[in-house]
Amino acid sequence: MSLPPLVEPAAELTVDEIRRYSRHLIIPDVGVEGQKRLKNARVLCVGAGGLGSPALLYLAAAGVGTLGIIDFDTVDESNLQRQIIHGVSDVGRSKAESAAASIREINPLVQVEIHNTALDRENVRDIFAQYDLIVDGTDNFATRYMVNDAAVLLGKPYVWGSIYRFDGQASVFWSEHGPCYRCLYPEPPPPGMVPSCAEGGVLGVLCASIGSIQVNEAIKLITGIGEPLVGGLMVYDALEMSYRKIKVRKDPNCALCGENPTVTDLLEDYEDFCGAVSEEAQEAVVDSTITALELKEWQDAGKDVFLVDVREPAEYEIVRIPGATLIPKGEILSGEALSRLPQDRQIVLHCKSGVRSAEALAALKAAGFRDAVHVQGGVLSWIKQIDPSLPAY
Ligand SMILES: [Zn+2]
Repeated sequence: MSLPPLVEPAAELTVDEIRRYSRHLIIPDVGVEGQKRLKNARVLCVGAGGLGSPALLYLAAAGVGTLGIIDFDTVDESNLQRQIIHGVSDVGRSKAESAAASIREINPLVQVEIHNTALDRENVRDIFAQYDLIVDGTDNFATRYMVNDAAVLLGKPYVWGSIYRFDGQASVFWSEHGPCYRCLYPEPPPPGMVPSCAEGGVLGVLCASIGSIQVNEAIKLITGIGEPLVGGLMVYDALEMSYRKIKVRKDPNCALCGENPTVTDLLEDYEDFCGAVSEEAQEAVVDSTITALELKEWQDAGKDVFLVDVREPAEYEIVRIPGATLIPKGEILSGEALSRLPQDRQIVLHCKSGVRSAEALAALKAAGFRDAVHVQGGVLSWIKQIDPSLPAY
């Protein structure tokens, strides 16, 4: 299926532009007409992180006239392994500002609009309305569903991508012509089931593989060339080196874009919809949560603590709290590890940030370990409060 161009062409190209974009202009399918459409296009990139970095760099180089960047985060050293739009001198700087500076260096003809804010239900419509096309580079389900819902409600196409370890996916969601994200994923995964890249890691170069697919699709939509990835899901496996294209159909029962939609406005609370922590875990942590500082005091006072690190072995290799025994969360949830836990010692669980340990705590309590507690904020809190010399990852 081909679609008409999304954007009307600009009146003309300047001499500078003709020189700069000559390798586009001599491709018959793009030509001066296509380049003028790119010049007139307004593209918003949600997130200047792993996917946003290559996406913004190539959109800028391609001559997309106006690029919006929305990101409220600042550049961290651990971003540099994959977020190539930022450099060492940008650490601590706003990601949106840092990305804008790189874009100006690559192509000063691009107009950059910075939205140095978190996308939320109050601002998402106003921001999206200013653009022709959205490129979604978000890394969490709450924002992803909000981006989808806002795009469908406003009738905007958006190019979605997701990455984890060696696996990537990409698609174009446009409810007027095909499915939306909810048609593919009607409900978010249960809390704790799908680890984030911060928990599970991501091969840096995977961002370029998926980010470049997103830019490719954005250019096709803007100029109306080729067959857009509407109704198609690209699945990339970097270890097998395979790209598979799977057909995705519009779901007539989709809660948002189906025949009888039940979601007709943005949700009140997307965090709540995606449930960062399950109800069981929320109940389990009440009166059973200690701080990193309290853990240190217990250890220093010689309290008989059995400290369990519920993260994965690779994370344990990177950094660990002294005295911690590694028992990954999965072994606790399956019940497999329960016999290795002492009945007569104070059990303290921790993970990276406190989400997985809360899930594990709920399982322990259900198995009768009534006195078990978990550490709020996990290893990251320990590093912050007790030993800043350890690497935060
Ligand atoms: Zn849908």
